[in-house]
Amino acid sequence: KLYNQVQDLKGSIRVYCRVRPFLPGQLSGNTLGSIDEGSITIVTPSKYGKEGRRSFNFNKVFGPSSSQEEVFSDTQPLIRSILDGYNVCIFAYGQTGSGKTYTMSGPKLLNEQTVGVNYRALSDLFKLSEQRRGIFSYEIAVQMIEIYNEQFFPLQESTLEIRNNSQKGVSVPNANLVPVTSTSDVIELMNIGQRNRVVGATALNDRSSRSHSCLTVHVQGKDMTSGTILRGCLHLVDLAGSERVDKSEVTGERLKEAQHINKSLSALGDVISALALKNSHVPYRNSKLTQLLQDSLGGQAKTLMFVHISPEMDAIGETLSTLKFAERVS
Ligand code: ADP
Ligand code: MG
Repeated sequence: KLYNQVQDLKGSIRVYCRVRPFLPGQLSGNTLGSIDEGSITIVTPSKYGKEGRRSFNFNKVFGPSSSQEEVFSDTQPLIRSILDGYNVCIFAYGQTGSGKTYTMSGPKLLNEQTVGVNYRALSDLFKLSEQRRGIFSYEIAVQMIEIYNEQFFPLQESTLEIRNNSQKGVSVPNANLVPVTSTSDVIELMNIGQRNRVVGATALNDRSSRSHSCLTVHVQGKDMTSGTILRGCLHLVDLAGSERVDKSEVTGERLKEAQHINKSLSALGDVISALALKNSHVPYRNSKLTQLLQDSLGGQAKTLMFVHISPEMDAIGETLSTLKFAERVS
C-alpha cells in the first residue's frame, strides 16, 4: 500500500516531552517529580517558589533513560507521509542545555545508537524512496537556514559554489536548494552549515543557542505510471533557547537577541495554538520562523514538537514555563 494511512495519526499536532538525564558530575539528588507514560507531574518545594504540584499531559513523555531510537520510533509514520506528498515540521523546544540539539542531531560522539532525529529521518526517507523505486521516482534536495535576530541566514553558500547546483522552488531569498542522494550527502552539508554558523559568530560568543536552525528536506516524487507529481517537505527545526532573560541584567546586543527570540517563540506558539483550536485566523506573519514554515503548519501538514526539560531542581522555573508553552500548543 503506497499511500499510507496518514489519517491514522491522531490529530495533526503532536507534542512529546523529553526529560534529559543528569549529566556526568551533576548531583542527581532531587527529582522534579514523576513521569507516567503520557503525563509528567512537577512538584515544587516551597524553597523554589510557590509550593505545589502540577501535572501536564502530552502525547508521550520520554524519561531520562529513553534512547534516541525510542524517541524516534513513533516518528516513522510521519516520515513516510512526506513521500506521499505531506509537509511535516519537527521542532525541538526548550531552554539552553535541555537537550534540543541532542534530540535533533545527537551528542558530540556520534554512532549508530546516538544519532538523532535528523539522521534517522533522512535515512528513513532514502530507504523508503529506494523501496518505491520503479513505481515512483524521487528527487530529494535540502536547504539549511538559520534565523538570527529575525533575519534569514542561508548556511550553505559555499557548498553551492562547490557543487554548482541550480536553484528551484526557493521559498526564502538566497536560500539554496542542494540535491542529495544519500544520508551522507546531507551530513556533509550539515557539517558545512554548522561551520558557517560558527564563522558567523564571534569567537567566545556561540550564537547557536540564540538562533533557530532549520534543515528543510524537499521531496518530489513522480508516479511512474500516471506521471502525477507529489511534493512533500520536512522541516527539522532546532529552536533558540526558550529561557527568559532578565531584562535588568542584559543590554545592547544580548537584549535585542532576547527580544527577537521571545517574539518568534511566542509567534510560533500563537500559530500552533490557533491551529490546535481550529481558529479561522492563523497569525503566520508575526515572525520570520512562522513565515518560513507557513506552508508546512496547518492544512494537511503534520507538526511534531519535542519539548525538552532539564531534570535539575534549579531549572524548575524554566521547566514550568516550558511545560506551559507545550500545554498551550497541544
Ligand atoms: P540544547 O541544544 O537544548 O542547548 P544540548 O542538546 O546541547 O542542549 O544538551 C546539553 C548537554 O546535555 C549536552 O552535553 C548533551 O550531550 C547532553 N544531553 C542532552 N540530552 C541528553 C540525553 N537524552 N542523554 C544524554 N545526554 C544528553
Ligand atoms: Mg543546542
